[in-house]
Amino acid sequence: MVITRTREELYKILEEFSKNPGKLALIPTMGNLHDGHLSLIKLAKLKASKIITTIFVNPLQFGKNEDFKKYPRTEKLDIEKLKKEDCDILFVPRNDEEVFSKLDKIKTLDSGNLGSELCGKIRPGHFDGVLTVVNRLFELINPDVAIFGAKDYQQQILIKKMAKSLHPKISLLKAPIVRSKNGVALSSRNNYLSEKEFDIAANLFKCLQNSVYSYQKKEKLHEILNNANSFLVSKNLKPDYFELRDSELNLISKNNFEGNKVFLGSVTINNTRLIDNIEF
Ligand code: AMP
Repeated sequence: MVITRTREELYKILEEFSKNPGKLALIPTMGNLHDGHLSLIKLAKLKASKIITTIFVNPLQFGKNEDFKKYPRTEKLDIEKLKKEDCDILFVPRNDEEVFSKLDKIKTLDSGNLGSELCGKIRPGHFDGVLTVVNRLFELINPDVAIFGAKDYQQQILIKKMAKSLHPKISLLKAPIVRSKNGVALSSRNNYLSEKEFDIAANLFKCLQNSVYSYQKKEKLHEILNNANSFLVSKNLKPDYFELRDSELNLISKNNFEGNKVFLGSVTINNTRLIDNIEF
């Protein structure tokens, strides 16, 4: 695996790789890699012959009181895991300027109305920061394919919309959620949880599963949502939101909506926010 820490080097490596036939797939990450991230690489290998992963803890997507400083950074271990997965290129910028020329001069993208709903309501500006960095990575790397996890459902929808207008040639793929044995979606932020909290966190997935079951049994949506919120509170999980949306994240108001849909939830447990969803 070739590791590059500067933009200049990145361009050279991409130029070299462009001489080899086949598609280039990009997997953007913030590092602290787990099996969820690695599943994206496995999927990428089925779709492309050259794989580039990026590890960049993007300052633009963290709010002032969020965990930017304490976000887990485990570069050495990450490199070992990427080598095992036969990743071809790792771009791990040595500083912010290798991504954005000047952090204070960048033009931030606007994530629109959807960017201030669901997670965006709790994290103002978060999705503007996500779109800005993903757009920048697309500009720098110009991949054929880019892969994002269904775990960050809203992020993946917003990126899809952004790419459709700014990078129509890049095909985006969504990878299924990888979970731990107890059902908790793998996430770098699970590191913040104690063993007991991790067990409690499994109730978010349970709640999503119960809600899907109730919806399929034609229970009334407002009752399902009320029950879900009460269930989460009873398990000491503070619900930030729990909603049913269609698969593009438009609101659903009526019962028995036939199309593809998704229950999405976010809970806080001892200052750690966890998100999860189930599509059906
Ligand atoms: P992050 O490092 O948290 O920014 O995540 C990088 C990519 O990995 C994003 O596209 C995430 O949606 C994806 N990802 C994170 N956790 C999981 C998971 N448990 N299952 C599938 N994809 C995931």
